[in-house]
Amino acid sequence: MVKEINKNDKKYFQCESCGFFYKDKELAEKCQAYCDEHNSCSLEITKHAVQI
Ligand SMILES: [Zn+2]
Repeated sequence: MVKEINKNDKKYFQCESCGFFYKDKELAEKCQAYCDEHNSCSLEITKHAVQI
């Protein structure tokens, strides 16, 4: 499941499988789905990840 995180008044979404954060819930869900299915990350998705 994608986790919702609030930091500095901003909302982020975390893929619970790989731990990457996204500003976009859709991307986090995509990452989560990919991680769960493939047991690894998609570079196409994780390049959109953000540092928080
Ligand atoms: Zn992921």
